[in-house]
Amino acid sequence: MSGIFIKQEWHDTTGRICGKCKSPVWRSGGSEESFQCLNCGKVLKKFETEDQDPSYRPRITVARRAGGITINTALEFLLDDNENPIVFESQSDAEKLLLDAGYESEDLGHMYFIEVDNEPKT
Ligand SMILES: [Zn+2]
Repeated sequence: MSGIFIKQEWHDTTGRICGKCKSPVWRSGGSEESFQCLNCGKVLKKFETEDQDPSYRPRITVARRAGGITINTALEFLLDDNENPIVFESQSDAEKLLLDAGYESEDLGHMYFIEVDNEPKT
């Protein structure tokens, strides 16, 4: 599952977009019916959102809690040779690399596939 961090809190992708600007929207306050559009800076009701194109594949980076320890708040990213987070064209590209590198599919469940283009600008 991919998603983003908003104020250090993980938000899974919802498969929905803003009806106005077409940006992906994220759950707001843990409610099934309430979504937030970071682009518009608004909280939306479900009817103000639309289904996301199922073929949408965001570019992603891969992170996990530091040392693989889930209570760590710090994240460590999968880095390239220059110590920059690797940006994958899709989650499946990243999963393939990880599996080829010897990770089990169970391990992937503990990793964060972060939608780089949709992350809030800080
Ligand atoms: Zn919007």
